[in-house]
Amino acid sequence: MHDLVIRNGLIVDGSGKKPFIGDIAIDNENISLVSNSIPDKGKEEIDAEGKLVTPGWVDIHTHYDGQVCWDPYLTPSSWHGVTTAVMGNCGVGFAPVRPGEENFLIQLMEGVEDIPGSALHEGIEWGWESFPEFLDAIDKKEFVMDLGFMIGHGPLRSYVMGHDRCQNQVDASDSEINKMSELVTEAINAGALGFSTSRTILHRDIYGKYVPGTEASSEEMRALAFGVDKAGEGTLEITSDWLDEEIEMSWMKEYVKKSNCGLTFLQTNGDAVKTILFSEEHYLRGKNIRPQFPGRNVGLMFGFESSLNPFMQYPAYREIAHLPHDQKYEIMKDPDFKIKLLNQKPDLKSEIDKRLAEPDNNKTREEIEKDAELLSNLTTNYKTQFILGTPPNYEPKEEDSIAAISSNKGISELEVMFDEMMKNNGTNLIYAAFTPYDDYKLNFVERAYGLKSSVAGGSDGGAHCGLICDASMPTTNLSHWARDREAGKKVPLEKLVRKQTKDTAETFGLFDRGEIKSGMLADINVIDFKKLNVSHPKMIHDLPLGGKRLVQDATGYIATIKRGQIVSKNGKATGSLPGNLIRGKQTCEVKSEISRVSLFDRTVRLVLIKLAQMYWKFNKKSVKSTIVSSSS
Ligand SMILES: [Zn+2]
Repeated sequence: MHDLVIRNGLIVDGSGKKPFIGDIAIDNENISLVSNSIPDKGKEEIDAEGKLVTPGWVDIHTHYDGQVCWDPYLTPSSWHGVTTAVMGNCGVGFAPVRPGEENFLIQLMEGVEDIPGSALHEGIEWGWESFPEFLDAIDKKEFVMDLGFMIGHGPLRSYVMGHDRCQNQVDASDSEINKMSELVTEAINAGALGFSTSRTILHRDIYGKYVPGTEASSEEMRALAFGVDKAGEGTLEITSDWLDEEIEMSWMKEYVKKSNCGLTFLQTNGDAVKTILFSEEHYLRGKNIRPQFPGRNVGLMFGFESSLNPFMQYPAYREIAHLPHDQKYEIMKDPDFKIKLLNQKPDLKSEIDKRLAEPDNNKTREEIEKDAELLSNLTTNYKTQFILGTPPNYEPKEEDSIAAISSNKGISELEVMFDEMMKNNGTNLIYAAFTPYDDYKLNFVERAYGLKSSVAGGSDGGAHCGLICDASMPTTNLSHWARDREAGKKVPLEKLVRKQTKDTAETFGLFDRGEIKSGMLADINVIDFKKLNVSHPKMIHDLPLGGKRLVQDATGYIATIKRGQIVSKNGKATGSLPGNLIRGKQTCEVKSEISRVSLFDRTVRLVLIKLAQMYWKFNKKSVKSTIVSSSS
């Protein structure tokens, strides 16, 4: 008798091969048998007839570094079938830290990832200094999923160089570089899955300063990358604008060439085509280099509860902005309020004066004016702002844009937005594309899925609490791309599943999961594919001290199984917490290294890449990665 048997499901096993109908037996933590039919009974059985059975999602781009202290369920990711989460991304995290200097890391996390500082202050039980001590503290806890951590450049640089110097444009000394590199090796030896860094000007602390390491020299970057290599395993994660391409590419190329450790990145500006061709070529040559792609456009959520809406600089709204939502909504319901608001103009001057007078302000008037202008550009980009709808549409058409609705109805864009945001007691949200969306199609995602090296990433689970809600991405990756897409070609289910299971697991050397195969960890989702959807995001106030965050529920997850235990049934947590801290690379009897592309496929692809590289060299078009970045 087996511990658990899942019967008659359509198994999409994570390897990328065509789905097949079969049974899965689970004993203890592992899958013990996958077969057309398993005669032995299970102590517990799940009838999966008509349902999809997939590996649990491995989400490698999350920011639950603080939330792990107060939420063993790591919501909302656990509502969306995630059974392994990697955090410590984008160069932020909470170790190493000198006692008494925790505030610096909190404000960094708050600035970069929009996680309320007050919640982090209240929720994190400090008690570590080094990265290994941090891992030991986490290891004592129980979770619904497995967690892996990277050591971030921000905490590392501030620990070694001190707060005063780590964010300035001073180069680290040779001894500081050596020390940082040693600490990277030490963290990986203790079980960190790698090292992360942020090289984008989009990531700033709450005072507007770049994250430590953003402007670090190529010598420093090279030393840190080879700190990973010295440990003999681990993956380097980079979020980068590639602003100075030669500096960035020089050390990255050297690392890829000389090291067998991993590299994964999210590119936020610069020549993405060049880097993608580079990574595809080297992945095919046997390197673990994996560009991450979000399955939907990163979108800002404008609403009366979120951190941003187009009325924030309007006097009538400013008067009530501080009120609790219910009170604010009561006032806004009055038709006279709407007339008054829509007849006003934004009052930038008093906003700027107010900001200048704030005691913690360290910016000049010009800098604040620039911020205000950026904000105003963000909120008035009506052609790429949309009614989000229920369920949300993440690939909306031009006619769904605020600009188009406004001209069809003959009312102002602001009125369209006001009316929409007032729906459902003032909780509806507007979806504002943050990455370019001029042709109203996500064809770049479709192309990214066609790459061998690409992996699903960028969900930012646990982060951007007041403005972005993308932790649900693993769910939309399936429902949108394999089922609902109308704007272009759909993507085969087996490919999508692989991109967020086996491929993401391999990116971090987690060879014991991501595939339904006997011997692998029993991390499994049973899904009613017809019903698989995400809800309209909603604001809840469940962070420590009542801090707010946007979350999305899911429908269609019949069961999520983690290490052989059912952790969620029909969308409800069962209370089981079998998740562990992952320490380093994981292997199991059936799988121990990166999957390889067949010789024929590899040869054809390498020839095509060479041609594409030559074409791109001479015909390079301008590329813009976010709506606030400049073309390059
Ligand atoms: Zn991130």
